Amino acid sequence: MDHAEKIIFRIQEDAWISSLAAYVLKGKKVALVIGNCIYLHGTKETELLESTAWLRHELMHVQQYKKEGIGWFLIQYGWESIRKGYWNNRYEIEARDAAKVIDFEKKFEVVSRRRS
Ligand SMILES: [Zn+2]
Repeated sequence: MDHAEKIIFRIQEDAWISSLAAYVLKGKKVALVIGNCIYLHGTKETELLESTAWLRHELMHVQQYKKEGIGWFLIQYGWESIRKGYWNNRYEIEARDAAKVIDFEKKFEVVSRRRS
């Protein structure tokens, strides 16, 4: 990783898009990544930032978007989901693996919308 620049990401709580995802998926706590933003439903920014394995998982999705571009990622992700389902989707496999990588989250830096 050397001195590579950090990947910037954002977190948005109570976003309508994650509420919709929660409704469709019947989930209580949902994190949905689009581009470099993690949209939350039923949870808070602090909870995600403290849940290291979960955070790493979502950050891998941020990295995937960055690597492939939003449009191409969504097409590929959708295609993987249709063919293989959620669990065997290669992007989800990669994200589950990232959850175990020590310090993976240190490659990233959160930019808060809130100003102090
Ligand atoms: Zn995932």
